[in-house]
Amino acid sequence: MQWLQNLAMNFQRFMAGRYGGDQLNLALLLFSFLLTVVCSFFPYGWIGSLVALLLLALTIFRMFSRNTTRRFAENYRFLKLWNPVKNWFQWLWLSIRYCKKNRYFLCPKCHRIASVPKGTGHVTITCKGCKHKYDKKA
Ligand SMILES: [Zn+2]
Repeated sequence: MQWLQNLAMNFQRFMAGRYGGDQLNLALLLFSFLLTVVCSFFPYGWIGSLVALLLLALTIFRMFSRNTTRRFAENYRFLKLWNPVKNWFQWLWLSIRYCKKNRYFLCPKCHRIASVPKGTGHVTITCKGCKHKYDKKA
């Protein structure tokens, strides 16, 4: 097993100072995979596969990049776009799953989820994320 340890150590040395994985890379990876699968059903699907391949190349480039500040900023911008979408799906899921117990609201400013027990009536919710206050009826 010595060779495996050496391999792991070499890889660690190789990755030192490089960016590695983040949420944007994961999203790119999943999207390119999805694109490949979906496009395989269409006659001109190879175009989609080509795009998927380019996205994959971009993912690999980002992973091994040494410009971590830039990659970090890219990921930050991506999360700013993605988080409201993610929160909305989470809100939908919670609203359906716990519809008898609670009501869920999305902060109009930062899209963070707040839960209020059902039947509370009119409430002023203070967002835990951005301290924004908004009125709702639960
Ligand atoms: Zn907020």
